[in-house]
Amino acid sequence: MKIVIVGGVAGGMSAATRMRRLDESAEIVVFERGHYVSFANCGLPYYVGGVITDRAELLLQTPESLRARFRLDVRIDHEVTGIDRAGQTVSVRNTLTGEESIEGYDRLILAAGATTRSEPLDFGLATHTLRTVDDVDHIDAVLAAVDGSPSAVVIGGGFIGLEAVDNLVHRGVHVTLVQRGPQILTPLDPEMAAPVVADLRAHGVDVRLGTHVVGSDAPVDSAGTAATGLLLSDGSLVPADLVIDATGVRPDTSLAAAAGLRIGDSGGIWVDETQATSDPRIFAVGDGALKTDAVGGAGALVTMAGLANRHGRAAADTIAGRPDAAEPAVGTGIVGVFDLTVAMVGWNEQRLVAAGRAHRIVHTHPSSHAGYFPGAEQMAIKLLIDADTDAILGAQIVGGSGVDKRIDVIATAMAAGLGASALSRLELAYAPQYGSAKDAINQLGYVADNLLHGTTRSVQWHELSAELAAGASLVDVRTPAEFAAGHLPDARNLNLDELRARHAELPAGPLIVHCQVGQRGHTAARLLSQLGHDVRNLDGGYRTWLAGQAADAAVVAAAAEVLAEGIPV
Ligand SMILES: Cc1cc2nc3c(=O)[nH]c(=O)nc-3n(C[C@H](O)[C@H](O)[C@H](O)COP(=O)(O)OP(=O)(O)OC[C@H]3O[C@@H](n4cnc5c(N)ncnc54)[C@H](O)[C@@H]3O)c2cc1C
Repeated sequence: MKIVIVGGVAGGMSAATRMRRLDESAEIVVFERGHYVSFANCGLPYYVGGVITDRAELLLQTPESLRARFRLDVRIDHEVTGIDRAGQTVSVRNTLTGEESIEGYDRLILAAGATTRSEPLDFGLATHTLRTVDDVDHIDAVLAAVDGSPSAVVIGGGFIGLEAVDNLVHRGVHVTLVQRGPQILTPLDPEMAAPVVADLRAHGVDVRLGTHVVGSDAPVDSAGTAATGLLLSDGSLVPADLVIDATGVRPDTSLAAAAGLRIGDSGGIWVDETQATSDPRIFAVGDGALKTDAVGGAGALVTMAGLANRHGRAAADTIAGRPDAAEPAVGTGIVGVFDLTVAMVGWNEQRLVAAGRAHRIVHTHPSSHAGYFPGAEQMAIKLLIDADTDAILGAQIVGGSGVDKRIDVIATAMAAGLGASALSRLELAYAPQYGSAKDAINQLGYVADNLLHGTTRSVQWHELSAELAAGASLVDVRTPAEFAAGHLPDARNLNLDELRARHAELPAGPLIVHCQVGQRGHTAARLLSQLGHDVRNLDGGYRTWLAGQAADAAVVAAAAEVLAEGIPV
């Protein structure tokens, strides 16, 4: 059995090494068009930032080490340029010498990854991507050549854009982040993304939302005139010794499409649950291949390292005669931005609304561990729940320590098919420095359970104005000191501890109660409903409402700028 693999990083190398562990006799050839195999692409931004100082740490393996341990025939600087499915061969070009060759296969695994979404941006200033070891070497060289403190423009506020921003600031670079749409980190909902923008600005990043680059201060055809800055759609000029294009990626399907393999609706290579393409002798894994979306059920693009590694392994299992059906992808992701950890899984509210899928929402603001134990940090959690089945449809968490373990518990619960209210019954490890006796996850379950059974009814931050306009009255049940420090317009203050005695003072008609984060509001809602009031709790309290206003302000400002140019937001 001869297995040829295209691409020698995450998916390709997982497939190759697993294949060898299962079949010592197989001939395994890996073609990698770049000069490095099995490099730590997820670590690249941290090398730019100087967090990883030794470049060799990025290079996890070499063709020699892979030959020694796994008897793999790894050919770097070799690009596969075509597939002859009938003849079961690939055409290969040596990128250093230009020499062409043909290689036969019994099974072919495509692990060519993703490619930049757009054509290279040309603003008269060299624009860099951040995807390969060569890229970080170029970025490093540009920054090293600047006299004084350099300036950079990062275009695109997704995962890689934000990692670039964080690491450039860590290296002492002044950074402008340009985001065409009104929100960074679009897998989040706006009220969850707003605190990330605030954090970026607090770290000195010039964040431009609803803005795009229109050119530079040197015309492209002005030979010899070096540009020093980029012109933005808001009319400003921002300094740019370095420009990083982080506008996103699309699956690299060029080989598959040219060979007539089926391409799915979302643009990735169609595969069945064993990673086989429409040609049973050819498999596809990683960023280039479609996954089955766990929430929607359709083919989806999920460009994550864990899935690339797992599906590479699964393809090898299938070829070795032990087919392993892939689980649908829940899309778990996490990114660190300065002091914040931002994590998400599944669908967000905007996507559920667009799909017309009935859902319930829970916002909480729990501590990472027991509040009385030093070092506890508050996080914001949003949980999306199927209104009909109680299934967990998604979650977003923004905070510091403890975010990573909570998103992993929710992702595991989704994969296991646990309902949202079942989170209340999970038995999680607890000592005060690690969690709470009612862990953040259990608390989500309690709220979900209360919503499921109608024990509490809630109102979302973006529904509040309409509810008040329709005649509801707003009651802030925090202390007078909290109220004085900042409160919602139109709220009247009646401290929770006085509510039982003074509830008759409240206006007739529907009431909406709120506190800082939603917990005292829930207690107030329970009390008032038992006293005969029609009452709902403002989900996530004042804190979520404030984040929503910040998001709205950003959206409004961005929209105004973009609309002034006549470009749709
Ligand atoms: C800077 C950065 C940070 C990231 N951070 C994270 C993270 O923190 N967490 C996470 O889950 N994911 C992260 N990712 C995404 C993750 O790296 C990818 O999802 C994963 O590497 C995809 O694996 P793959 O095998 O499909 O493609 P890749 O790992 O990209 O490998 C594809 C390889 O195929 C080669 N190739 C392409 N075409 C050909 C051809 N015709 N012939 C020969 N070789 C070819 C390419 O040169 C490339 O080396 C990050 C990605 C980047 C770029």
